[in-house]
Amino acid sequence: MVSIKDQIVLITGASSGIGAACAKIFAEAGAKLILVARRQERLEELAQMLKGTAVHLLPLDVRDRVSVESAFSSLPADWSNVDILINNAGLSRGLNKLHEGRIQDWEEMLDTNIKGLLYCTRFLVPGMVNRGRGHVVNLGSIAGHQTYPGGNVYCASKAAVKAISEGLKQDLLGTPVRVTSVDPGLVETEFSNVRFHGDTDRAKKVYQGLTPLTPEDIADVIFFCVTRPAHVNISEILLVPTDQA
Ligand code: NDP
Repeated sequence: MVSIKDQIVLITGASSGIGAACAKIFAEAGAKLILVARRQERLEELAQMLKGTAVHLLPLDVRDRVSVESAFSSLPADWSNVDILINNAGLSRGLNKLHEGRIQDWEEMLDTNIKGLLYCTRFLVPGMVNRGRGHVVNLGSIAGHQTYPGGNVYCASKAAVKAISEGLKQDLLGTPVRVTSVDPGLVETEFSNVRFHGDTDRAKKVYQGLTPLTPEDIADVIFFCVTRPAHVNISEILLVPTDQA
């Protein structure tokens, strides 16, 4: 197992769910954490919980290319050599038929799940290549493997993440930088609440009749992937609740 101690791990979408669980597991292993999300107060609460861990907060919107580039290029010198990038920020909006969908919802999903991930990758991977070490973990989804009714644009965004992960891996062949796509099924987080624009009753129904994965289940798998020996690249992991089809 490769040690994570003192490695710099940048996690997007660290203010809740899977991202926050990743922050905790990497903190326990002695990593230095750069935490990215829009809700600064949630990042501050998390940093408070992780007392004793070196934490650098970057409150920003990954859809804003200029902010991402400027925040990453002006990291203090002792934070600038990011070893592990966890592209986790993402969301689903609505579960509507395509021909009845809200265009604003589509833009939010495509801009966050695809373009935000691309910006973070574009601005951080060159440093990894130059330094001869690094790992990019992208949060895909079972939605990138199968399309369900009303899933249309969200599924398309995660199918794009799958293609981008595979493309990046091909493009990095010959360098030691690794790329992994972690593709979960249902995980109980704020995700469903966000999807249904705060309709908590509708959100809870999503998990009825099955035992969803927890954010910690996903963080655990991500941690496993990045701590394999340097010659092992786990390209893709699909993990679903035992009772999810
Ligand atoms: P959460 O809603 O709990 O977390 C999403 C995170 O993304 C939040 O921290 C949110 O922070 C951040 N985020 C959203 N938009 C932006 C933005 N524009 N800029 C910066 N940060 C942003 O959901 P999950 O933890 O479940 O989701 C994490 C990832 O896992 C997503 O990519 C999702 O698609 C994927 N996934 C989730 C599944 C599930 O069932 N939950 C299943 C499969 C994949 P903030 O609002 O503060 O900006």
